Amino acid sequence: MTEDCIFCKIASGAVPSNLIYESTSVVAFEDLNPQAPVHVLIIPREHLATLNDLTDAHTTLIGELVMAAQQIAADKGLAQMGYRLVWNCLEAAGQSVFHIHLHLLGGRRMQWPPG
Ligand code: AMP
Repeated sequence: MTEDCIFCKIASGAVPSNLIYESTSVVAFEDLNPQAPVHVLIIPREHLATLNDLTDAHTTLIGELVMAAQQIAADKGLAQMGYRLVWNCLEAAGQSVFHIHLHLLGGRRMQWPPG
């Protein structure tokens, strides 16, 4: 846990959130500022600032994040319609919270390329 990290605080329960999934290593909650009818953030409990901090030791963890996203998408009824998973790395890509998080977006038609 990193003291000044909002997502560490959400993962620990110190800051409230609309929690929709949790396991020993992963937490998922509704995005505060949703960009689609379904917008969920899936995060590791471990504080990792950016994707650049991942090592081979995190391979299983990343799989758990993606599988959690798949499960949540199914629970939200998105499996047939489809959904988007997004990971922003650093400011130029749109990262604003420096604790890695997988965006699950769905419930509307998506555009490509993203902005
Ligand atoms: P990114 O821009 O990829 O770093 O995404 C950060 C996301 O975190 C944004 O979609 C924000 O709306 C969301 N966010 C920031 N603070 C909170 C919070 N306290 N609870 C839920 N979502 C948050």
